[in-house]
Amino acid sequence: MSIQKSVVIIGAGLIGVSAARYLSAAGSRVVLVGPGETPPGAESRVYSSWYDEARITRILDPDPVWGTLAARSISRYGDIESESGICFHQRSGVLRVADAGDEDLAQSTAACEHLDPVYDVLDEDRLTGRFPMLQFRGGSEALLERGDAGFMNPKRFVKAQSVLCSRLGVERIHATVTRIQERTSGVVVTLEDGRAVQAESALLATGAFTSALHLDVECPPFHISAQTILLAEVAADDAGRFQEMPAVIDRDPGNLDLKYIYVLPPVRYPDGRLCVKIGGRESPDTILDTPKDIGDWFLSGGSARSGERLEEALVSLIPGWAPASLQTKPCAVTRTPTGRPIVDHLSDRIVLAAGGNGAAAKSADEIGRIASTRVLTAAEPPDYPVETFLCRSNLEF
Ligand SMILES: Cc1cc2nc3c(=O)[nH]c(=O)nc-3n(C[C@H](O)[C@H](O)[C@H](O)COP(=O)(O)OP(=O)(O)OC[C@H]3O[C@@H](n4cnc5c(N)ncnc54)[C@H](O)[C@@H]3O)c2cc1C
Repeated sequence: MSIQKSVVIIGAGLIGVSAARYLSAAGSRVVLVGPGETPPGAESRVYSSWYDEARITRILDPDPVWGTLAARSISRYGDIESESGICFHQRSGVLRVADAGDEDLAQSTAACEHLDPVYDVLDEDRLTGRFPMLQFRGGSEALLERGDAGFMNPKRFVKAQSVLCSRLGVERIHATVTRIQERTSGVVVTLEDGRAVQAESALLATGAFTSALHLDVECPPFHISAQTILLAEVAADDAGRFQEMPAVIDRDPGNLDLKYIYVLPPVRYPDGRLCVKIGGRESPDTILDTPKDIGDWFLSGGSARSGERLEEALVSLIPGWAPASLQTKPCAVTRTPTGRPIVDHLSDRIVLAAGGNGAAAKSADEIGRIASTRVLTAAEPPDYPVETFLCRSNLEF
């Protein structure tokens, strides 16, 4: 295969490794630069939003673009798993709960009808009958997405894509990038130890830390929001009660200032604990203004106040269960004014693929594919509405 182009990808996270695989498979010479696993609390200049054991995977979404990104990614999980020998996907089902008649549910099924999601509509009686261990607010209705819906392990996804990248000849540099300069002949990427990498083009897949890079070009004004997750340990004696548990997305169960909550069924963490994870979007968001604020947040243990709210929400959802231990952890969500990811040229030779809006883990393979096309052809993906992924500076949050 002839070498098409040399590309340096900055950020070896979910989108970066996915794009690396597509670019390399298309014949580009690819250098993928980024630190490896950087758990919150570790000494690092940058952190990632994939250092966790579970992210919800589902197609149903009120936005057809998110539905399509997810459906296309999820349809390729099986091949990535079998080719890499690394499994990362679990089909537990996803339950999306709302007030009966809420237009969010109807909009989700209408927006994603063409993607053939497999789901049941559960009224309040069927909901309680089907999941007796869970308790929902009165007047609830739900969509139970089945099929491939469930969760994926983002760390194992990165590992699986990395195996395939390395087989394709992607060069991997474990380092943090501090600066990117554009020259007439290409880009020069400076690493923290002073080394430089040169290539014809650069792809930034740097998530919440994009603004920490020294760039000669303007970067879109993301909102980086602080997120706290709560890990609730399941004692060995309690494990049985969670066997049928799907991932759940629900409303604030009380007056907790949460726009929504999401809960993952029990997953084994590296320290051996089996934990249910709960998180949620707070109202209002806590915005982290500077790269230092974002770094400091990842060094914190998360917000104790948010942890209390999440504990209350968990007690309300799973009444009568006493977790063996509780632990909060920090994470960050990169939001864009459109609510969709940005995959766009910042200049002739620099493309940005970031802005997961708290929903890109499951869809990272497809976003990586779109980013690779953008780098190679400068074109928008023809199979999405025009301007979907463009960085539109006239839009405000
Ligand atoms: C608490 C929480 C829960 C979530 N739940 C879900 C969910 O259930 N389902 C779902 O689909 N999505 C979920 N998400 C969103 C998802 O995790 C993100 O959208 C996704 O991680 C974004 O991928 P990314 O590649 O843009 O960024 P990341 O995954 O953060 O990767 C960016 C990478 O860039 C690297 N990097 C940054 N700066 C530099 C630099 N200067 N030099 C070199 N490398 C650099 C970092 O080390 C990192 O590896 C959740 C996010 C959070 C925070």
